[in-house]
Amino acid sequence: MNERIVMDNTGFDTKCVHSGGYADDVTGGVATPIFRSTSHRIMGGAVRYPRYFNVPTERAAAEKIRLLEHGGAAVVLGSGMAAITTVLFAMLRRGDHTVMQNDIYGGTFNFVISEFAGLGIEYTFVRGESIGEFEAALRPNTKLVYFETPSNPLLNIVDIRAMADMAKKRGILTVMDGTFATPVNQTPLDYGMDIVVHSGTKYLNGHSDVLCGAIVTSDELMKKILPYAINHGGVLDAMGCWLLERGLKTLGLRMKRHNENALKIAEFLKDHKMVKRVYYPGLKSHPGYKIAKSQMRGFGGVVSFELDCDLKTARKIVDRFKYVTPAVSLGGVESLVCFPAETSHAKMPKQEREKVGISDTLLRLSVGIEDAEDLINDMESAFKI
Ligand SMILES: *Cc1c(COP(=O)(O)O)cnc(C)c1O
Repeated sequence: MNERIVMDNTGFDTKCVHSGGYADDVTGGVATPIFRSTSHRIMGGAVRYPRYFNVPTERAAAEKIRLLEHGGAAVVLGSGMAAITTVLFAMLRRGDHTVMQNDIYGGTFNFVISEFAGLGIEYTFVRGESIGEFEAALRPNTKLVYFETPSNPLLNIVDIRAMADMAKKRGILTVMDGTFATPVNQTPLDYGMDIVVHSGTKYLNGHSDVLCGAIVTSDELMKKILPYAINHGGVLDAMGCWLLERGLKTLGLRMKRHNENALKIAEFLKDHKMVKRVYYPGLKSHPGYKIAKSQMRGFGGVVSFELDCDLKTARKIVDRFKYVTPAVSLGGVESLVCFPAETSHAKMPKQEREKVGISDTLLRLSVGIEDAEDLINDMESAFKI
């Protein structure tokens, strides 16, 4: 069995297709075999066990993600939350303090507010519209800064390089959730981030059929994180790893289409009379446009917009979509839509929610890879209510 070696100077899509995988010596098959064994003959003293992140099907997916993210080391886990909690547990101790952006993924937010106090870990949430806001929240015991860009659901943009510079000066660790952008659009380690986490459930796998996550960082930091990953046991099984590696082969192609479609739809929505406001970092009117343009190669597949009607009408409109399914999650080939006020941000008090811009009629659209014209026609007719 031979690991495929892909040169650093090859293009992104060549890496998507060829890196990480193993050629099958038995049949000559071009796809990585699914290695299901949990027990392996001990060879040269080396112990292989799936929970040690050292079996080939997991390695294949992790290596692809590592290369695409320009990292030194990567592991694949059983969910995005497994990746996030593993990193935070590995890096934070009793008495430490962390500064976090407040519109991070709802699951991460809940994890912090429900578990950190009991662990003796201090935290401060900031709106996070400027690096200065993060900086002002630092304390002498701050160990880690955590954020997402673009964020959910308003696609706020954080200047990654400025964040890295600010934190590095003080020896503070930076962790970024890179789920929305993917390495197609943005490679945060290149800008000085220490650790990137992913919900691979979204774009990396891309087909809404595997729950998975990933951690990408330097070799040195992975040495600290890996024992926690092994202890906590949040691994992804062989079939999931295999599906993820397969999904990653088309990541470049899919994201290109997600980017194109989302921009077209954002332009369409921007000019529509049923729409009060559109949030998409690829629109010049977005407050983060300039920074997004400087650090992103594409603006991603999520567009949020506020309908100019009451909630009842908004619900009717969503029910009239033919090709856009009301559902949580994002990043799959099919278009999905949800009301963040009822899903990801349901636990946030209404007043606070509205203050940050998440009104009852805000919709988060995960634009799929269908033909943009069909999606636009679909929405146009649903709006004629
Ligand atoms: C979905 C999501 C997560 C959580 O990932 P799971 O795979 O559902 O555990 C974390 N961060 C972001 C930005 C997400 O969209």
